[in-house]
Amino acid sequence: LFGGNEKGDTPESRAAKLRSEIERYNYAYYVLDAPVVPDAEYDRVFRELQELEAAYPELVVPGSPTQRVGGAPLAQFDKVEHRLPMLSLQNGLTDEEVEAFDRRLGEELGIAQVEYEAELKFDGLAVSLRYEKGVLVQAATRGDGMSGENITANIRTIRSVPLHLSELAPPEVLEVRGEVLMFKKDFQDLNRRQRESGQKEFVNPRNAAAGSLRQLDSQITASRQLKFFAYGIGELDGAPLPETQNRLLNWFVQLGIPVCEERKVVRGFKGLMGFFQAIEARRDALPYEIDGVVYKVNRLSEQQKLGFISRAPRFALAHKFPAQEVLTEVTDINVQV
Ligand code: NAD
Repeated sequence: LFGGNEKGDTPESRAAKLRSEIERYNYAYYVLDAPVVPDAEYDRVFRELQELEAAYPELVVPGSPTQRVGGAPLAQFDKVEHRLPMLSLQNGLTDEEVEAFDRRLGEELGIAQVEYEAELKFDGLAVSLRYEKGVLVQAATRGDGMSGENITANIRTIRSVPLHLSELAPPEVLEVRGEVLMFKKDFQDLNRRQRESGQKEFVNPRNAAAGSLRQLDSQITASRQLKFFAYGIGELDGAPLPETQNRLLNWFVQLGIPVCEERKVVRGFKGLMGFFQAIEARRDALPYEIDGVVYKVNRLSEQQKLGFISRAPRFALAHKFPAQEVLTEVTDINVQV
């Protein structure tokens, strides 16, 4: 592991080292579902590269992990091209970063108090569900953001995911984006069963969910308890786009799509921090793992105005909780691939 700048490193060689380290972590995490370092360590290395690239913009290359999303889809699955890319999120770790985010957006939109929808940041994996005339026709993982894995058969085994939308006149096309996750209790039950049958245990619910969903045999997926929460939209054809993120999620609820109830419309920095603190206080009592909260500009027209940077929307911020993991938690456990 890299700890600070090593002697003799030029910015170029340091950036190259960080990149290859991150590539290695990405492969273990996204392709094998078996992380080799805790998220906090990953985030530290990633930030160091981001800061180095900010200080030396000539070091930014298109192939840098800071410019890309996720990892390559597994070749064993059919590929699905995302018509609209599936992006990552910008991260904020401190109150100051949240305040700066809110100030920047207020200035760019020319409004005194920006309205946000505050949501939970579920620790699972992102998928896109495609409904045509109200029928689930395809499901894909995020993959590298441009194309993912076709996991339709596996998604169909998740009981809470509707195969038909509950609407008499559904849109021609509706792509629902959200997170597949495993609840804490189901994760413990799974690991107990794995232990009892002499099989490898999973590191955490996120990796258990990813490993369970990316199975070539959908009967294995069916035997795991997976859940789904919708949080966004991809392609839409044949229905008006709701005006706000909040109304979009309300619409999903009407269509029978699972949406987490822990969400709230808030205003300005104070509103964001109020939501963050309330959720942080209840984090351990929640039945699923979250690694922070997500703030999204509520008005979709304002989201559009703000647009995107290379790998993330500019209108959203993941406000992460301080790291809890330690390295030994990951390395001591036999990881299931
Ligand atoms: P991210 O997980 O920080 O944020 C983007 C993702 O958040 C989305 O793709 C979506 O899946 C998820 N999400 C959850 N709730 C959401 C909501 N309400 N609205 C929108 N999105 C929501 O970014 P990432 O690019 O997926 O992964 C980077 C993170 O993954 C790192 O910060 C690290 O924590 C972890 N990681 C760890 C390792 C490792 O080796 N330990 C390797 C790679 C990545």
